[in-house]
Amino acid sequence: MHCPYCRHCDTRVLDTRVSEDGASIRRRRQCPACERRFTTIEQTQLVVVKRSGVVEPFNRDKVITGVRKACKGRPVTEAQLARLGQRVEEALRASGQAEVATENIGIAILGPLSELDPVAYLRFASVYKNYGSADDFLDEIAQMRSSATKSAEERDDGLDPSDEQNCQPALAL
Ligand SMILES: [Zn+2]
Repeated sequence: MHCPYCRHCDTRVLDTRVSEDGASIRRRRQCPACERRFTTIEQTQLVVVKRSGVVEPFNRDKVITGVRKACKGRPVTEAQLARLGQRVEEALRASGQAEVATENIGIAILGPLSELDPVAYLRFASVYKNYGSADDFLDEIAQMRSSATKSAEERDDGLDPSDEQNCQPALAL
């Protein structure tokens, strides 16, 4: 690959390491022309299988765009959105699968979004879970209240317990 500093057309690999989880390879490289060093990371390309059967590369920006719409008018910063996108991608990669279905992306978004903003979470879930009535909202709010008490110890797992219920995804990412 080209040197990112001087665009020289070749680089030398100084060191190669497999990440702790075995999901990526990190290479320390040096440019023979300008002698500057940089790191490259090699990992499996994550692809999304849409409900139509179309397969496309996972795009973190699409996740962020979808969540940003749900966060409209809410006190959520771009930095928080970026962090959420990163968490979603990490959770999907941690599953160890090279292909993810669109609905699994929605599931991976729900947990971190419920921590970020309850109103945005309800908006997103209302589309994603295809709420048919106001009662669906009330049920969801009741679940959020009951899980809020135990969420403190589960904060690190990134997924809300309510994610396991059978739901009808309606969000096109
Ligand atoms: Zn260079």
